[in-house]
Amino acid sequence: MNKSQSLYEQARLVMPGGVNSPVRAFNGVGGTPLFIEKADGAYIYDADGKAYIDYVGSWGPMILGHNNPDIADAVCKAVHKGLSYGAPTGIEVELANLVTSIMPSIEMLRMVNSGTEATMSAIRVARGFTQRDKIIKFEGCYHGHADYLLVKAGSGALTLGHPTSPGVPTDFVKHTLVCNYNDLESVRKTFEQYPNEIAAIIVEPVAGNMNCVPAKPDFLQGLRDLCDQYGALLIIDEVMTGFRVALGGAQEYYNITPDLTCLGKVIGGGMPVGAFGGRAEIMAQLAPIGPIYQAGTLSGNPIAMTAGYTALNLLTQVGVYPQLDSLTAKLANGLLAAANQFNVPLVVNHVGGMFGLFFTTQKDVTTYADVMKSDVELFKKFYHHMLSEGIYFAPSAFEAGFMSLAHGDDEINQTIDAAKRFFKTLK
Ligand code: PMP
Repeated sequence: MNKSQSLYEQARLVMPGGVNSPVRAFNGVGGTPLFIEKADGAYIYDADGKAYIDYVGSWGPMILGHNNPDIADAVCKAVHKGLSYGAPTGIEVELANLVTSIMPSIEMLRMVNSGTEATMSAIRVARGFTQRDKIIKFEGCYHGHADYLLVKAGSGALTLGHPTSPGVPTDFVKHTLVCNYNDLESVRKTFEQYPNEIAAIIVEPVAGNMNCVPAKPDFLQGLRDLCDQYGALLIIDEVMTGFRVALGGAQEYYNITPDLTCLGKVIGGGMPVGAFGGRAEIMAQLAPIGPIYQAGTLSGNPIAMTAGYTALNLLTQVGVYPQLDSLTAKLANGLLAAANQFNVPLVVNHVGGMFGLFFTTQKDVTTYADVMKSDVELFKKFYHHMLSEGIYFAPSAFEAGFMSLAHGDDEINQTIDAAKRFFKTLK
């Protein structure tokens, strides 16, 4: 038994499934999850000392690669000034200014501690502001684990085959309307059915919780138009896409102005941070200046703010996003060419620093239904082959992959070569 296996055995006795968040338990691919000891640049190292090229990047935030020295130094300095005060700090103002300058649709924001908090708070504000109860979400999109959002959600929920969760009273989800991703008609019909009751649409602008499914070019603009027509707010959930598909997130990439934006993991540079923000008129409804309540003892934590501020500053440097895009494209095109060489049916989607692999004979994958047609069993075999060759993808066919700036040609070529060896075995 290696160290990961031994730790897993111990972990399962004291933590459900041996983990603190479901997908990492390897339920989606089978086998023992790797227990990680440390990470550096493009690599993570497991408890047995084996190195892996990492395409999980802590599920998105590690755009600069692991253990970035500037972030690590800034955090160490901040630690020596005390871990938390529960009072306002200058670094919160600096990070807020940086975010509002990068994403102009965010005039005001509030920091929280996770993506889940960001989406549930944004929805509360949207409901309070519009004085309406219903929301629209899309099948296969995940917005954290708030009760009323755990309806046809993606990622862990898809992996485990429990699209909705016991423990969520039916009454709590009665205001959640579910539409089809990349299908404007389904949204239009829903608005026609409830013209004055829908507070907001919440959407992943590139769906990253049913693998990686980019929005079609007219989809987000269509949502914007429908929201304007019916007096609803558009909430873009950029927990994954923010500062990843472009510096200004998917809203910059697609040129769409939301009313509210949710941010997560990336804004903390890997520390537990989230944020939601948008038009000042809407955000001014929040306590203490408005009636809508939202709070957090550790929100705006100085260590997390320091990590986020340092990370985002580094990301504003010229050339970062062209490089991230070109590394991702190189991997995507290389994997596709390798699959073609061995006649393995593969679709590769990619936007900015996100990508998704689908073993499928379909021409493209643009909807939840398309995603569900992909060959999960083949993905599992591919997954374990790649893992054995020291390449760490997300352990589920329904999760996106993430590129970092620390990945270079060597890592990408090694990944493509490992995939080739797998495709060859299928001949
Ligand atoms: N929204 C999106 C789009 C996400 O991908 C996630 C998590 N992966 C969340 C919200 C929830 O974030 P957290 O896990 O930090 O609560």
